[in-house]
Amino acid sequence: MENCIFCKIINQEIPSYKVYEDEKVYAFLDISQATKGHTLIVPKQHVTDIFEYDEEIAAAVFARIPKIARALEKAFPEMEGLNILNNNKELAYQSVFHSHIHLIPRYSKKDDFSIHFGNHTDQQSPAEMQAIADKIKEQVK
Ligand code: 5GP
Ligand code: ZN
Repeated sequence: MENCIFCKIINQEIPSYKVYEDEKVYAFLDISQATKGHTLIVPKQHVTDIFEYDEEIAAAVFARIPKIARALEKAFPEMEGLNILNNNKELAYQSVFHSHIHLIPRYSKKDDFSIHFGNHTDQQSPAEMQAIADKIKEQVK
């Protein structure tokens, strides 16, 4: 897609630090390096976000994640964990609108990356939880 920075990277129109490529997928270092080795995996086909994936693109991208994860672990034996993150739409911190999966190696609790999950266990009754699950279940196609 025109004017997409990640399409340009995939097509070698702008440079990147490539770590892996095959016919479906391209993986390269995130320019911001949240931690050392922070890598992005992208489908070569331009899709904006997870809502646009078909099963073939999903299978291609998600099948490559363990391969790159293991490569990171071998490259950096001091790595003690890995966060896998995928932001969808601006509210959820997506800033490049060619879908990508972040692989963020973790080295210590002080490595300048954190995620906060609020725990709101007490806010919904069992009936409300069931209603939420049912509402989603009805839409799974
Ligand atoms: P998002 O915020 O959409 O989840 O992540 C977009 C990521 O793309 C950011 O972490 C940002 O550092 C990275 N990024 C933006 N522009 C470029 C670029 O030109 N090259 C590379 N390698 N990464 C980029
Ligand atoms: Zn693109």
